Amino acid sequence: MRIILIGPPGAGKGTQAESIKAKYPIAHISTGDMLRENVRSGTELGKKARAFMDAGKLVSDDLIIDMMRARLRADDARAGFLLDGFPRTIAQAEALDGLLKEMSIELDAVILLEVSDDTVVQRLASRRVCSSCGAIYNAIAHPPKIEGVCDICCSKVIQRDDDKESVIRNRLAVYHEQTSPLIEYYDKKGMLHRIDANVAKDFVLKYLETLNAAGNV
Ligand code: ADP
Ligand code: ZN
Repeated sequence: MRIILIGPPGAGKGTQAESIKAKYPIAHISTGDMLRENVRSGTELGKKARAFMDAGKLVSDDLIIDMMRARLRADDARAGFLLDGFPRTIAQAEALDGLLKEMSIELDAVILLEVSDDTVVQRLASRRVCSSCGAIYNAIAHPPKIEGVCDICCSKVIQRDDDKESVIRNRLAVYHEQTSPLIEYYDKKGMLHRIDANVAKDFVLKYLETLNAAGNV
């Protein structure tokens, strides 16, 4: 199974990816997580990416494409993968097409999580993440059992720097300008599946199971 999750920041891509990963043995490839890991460990890539990320802007296509070229060829991606946060521009989508072609593999589906801007702002402002394992919490709807401590690994639960309201507005603008053209790109290829992400979060997994049962992915 090779799928792409597209949606505005806060659509629930990370949360969906976690539940899909628990069910299917495919690699969850999140460019955002990979970049944050690079920033944490102070790599060259992390140093270049940091300022863009903090401002809610996109990191340059070249850097992202190089990073993904290597990642898609890793062993754990052989059984399939779920791309979360990539591609994010038409240039990245075209580069991905080229990479897949080189590897003689094809995408099965592109799942678009649709959610209103208001919901995004509301969700992200209350989003909290584990600084170590990446587990996702919500300060209001789903706080960790002990405040500020991850249920899974006991590390510190924090608010991402780019989840501050002014940065959220930037990320939304970037999404509408640069990422939403991908909707038409994949729709034209007949690969797009739209899901209303304002609804219950287990809906995406159910939908994927239906596609799977029908032999569509
Ligand atoms: P979001 O919740 O905004 O989807 P992500 O965790 O996917 O957040 O990404 C965080 C930041 O990392 C983005 O705002 C951007 O700066 C950078 N980033 C992640 N993926 C990409 C990509 N495919 N192209 C360019 N920049 C990216
Ligand atoms: Zn944790």
